[in-house]
Amino acid sequence: MTLNLKLYINGEWIESNNPDKQDILNPANQQIIAKAPKATKEETEKAIHMAKTAFESGVWSERTPQERAQTLLEIAEKMEESMDELADLEMQNNGKTRREAQADAAEAANTFRYYAGLLNHPNGQIYEASQDMQTMIVKEPMGVAGLIVPWNFPLLMSVWKMAPALAAGNSIILKPAEITPLTAVKVFELMDQTSLPKGVAHLVMGSGAIVGQTIAESDHVDIVSFTGSTGVGRQIMKAATGNLKKVSLELGGKSPNIIFDDADLETAVDYALFGIFMGAGQVCSSGSRILVQEGIYDKFVTTYVARAKAIKVGPGNEESSEVGAIVSKKHMESILEYIRIGKEEGATLLCGGKRIERDGMEKGFFIEPTVFTDVTSDMRIVREEIFGPVVVIQKFKDEEEAIKLANDTEFGLAGAVFSKDQHKAMRVIQKVRAGITWVNTYHLTNVQAPWGGYKQSGIGRSLGTYGLDEYQETKQINISLNPQPIQWFE
Ligand code: NAD
Repeated sequence: MTLNLKLYINGEWIESNNPDKQDILNPANQQIIAKAPKATKEETEKAIHMAKTAFESGVWSERTPQERAQTLLEIAEKMEESMDELADLEMQNNGKTRREAQADAAEAANTFRYYAGLLNHPNGQIYEASQDMQTMIVKEPMGVAGLIVPWNFPLLMSVWKMAPALAAGNSIILKPAEITPLTAVKVFELMDQTSLPKGVAHLVMGSGAIVGQTIAESDHVDIVSFTGSTGVGRQIMKAATGNLKKVSLELGGKSPNIIFDDADLETAVDYALFGIFMGAGQVCSSGSRILVQEGIYDKFVTTYVARAKAIKVGPGNEESSEVGAIVSKKHMESILEYIRIGKEEGATLLCGGKRIERDGMEKGFFIEPTVFTDVTSDMRIVREEIFGPVVVIQKFKDEEEAIKLANDTEFGLAGAVFSKDQHKAMRVIQKVRAGITWVNTYHLTNVQAPWGGYKQSGIGRSLGTYGLDEYQETKQINISLNPQPIQWFE
């Protein structure tokens, strides 16, 4: 059955006036599973207007933190009750494995729980400015938050923005990626059954050029929070200059994973596989550049390639699949083009490199785990974010060269070091210019820790207390303790 998706504006599910619809496919078999609206500029503006009206009415923004926390907990509970359905929708729409989708759904519910908890903590500060005055610092909601998310973690990226933005008391407009709206629709259906007042949260599906651009440009949006590619991040920043709205950007990466001679080989190989092939490499923080010290290099590469070849790629709903599909034909072709470029640039292809079309998988968008060696720092496959199951392995001599290669990138999202020497590992990780880093592990992180990048990987931080700050204004209130006039003028 093909679902006919609708926009959610002002607490109502409505058909878009635009008769043109987006086919929503399962990338594992190209089955059309839904038709999604492509909202018009006017419909987007209506959602923004209603969000602003709700904000100004105080119906949510003036609820006490405890009341808002209660609503967030209701949303978390609803999500937990629908966990299997959420995971199933995510798996079908994005192509990821069931195991990955289940982890995302659990983490999404947990994010609402975390921000509900944070609301019950004291917020703000008091300074004893002088004998005559005391200064209070208070946090307030910003107003209307425009939330624009990508297709790689449709549910989790939406919730990483929605939970703190709502916790802070803002009204929100969520714009999912064109091709992956299914879990966002489900979350809005669930929120509709909670005590969240109508008009506070809106869901507007459609193109980046129309819906996304309208949100980024609008004078009535106070913050635009975007996760996606660095190129679009740049456009959003430009579009936001009209009313100088706050811009929060989580962008791309080309993250280094540094393996020293003294690392535990099995552990390093294992995490280096997980670092790039989890999510079929469609993960912003993927360890897409593995840097290996010369003493362990040959052994590492042999072991790594043998294990990469053994990874089972297949439809997300099959128990045996360890890596799922690429999200779309267009994206699969872009990854295959990078593989072609890598070969043309003179890199050595040690394994993978092709679309998988065997065993009834010919309709799906699957790519073999792909490993390149003999690469140089000027190659495009070393410099650009491929966002697929493609990794490059480079050799280095010493600590100094490892740090130099690691930081030789315009990005600064993530990075890791593997070594049994804790002193060296700490020395090196502190020199890696990136916001999310690991020592002797990869990818594992938690909702308490700030998420975001250095350099062209973004501006601002999601999650933790930093994530709540992102959606708040900070105000100082100076209170006189002295009833006397100041008598500055005679
Ligand atoms: P994308 O930049 O193409 O699209 C992201 C979103 O922006 C989509 O909803 C899209 O419709 C919208 N958009 C497109 N053009 C727009 C415009 N002109 N104005 C406003 N919105 C517009 O990214 P993608 O291909 O969906 O996702 C992959 C990218 O996301 C990768 O670069 C990846 O590294 C990045 N990413 C980063 C993080 C992070 O936390 N740093 C997390 C996940 C993904």
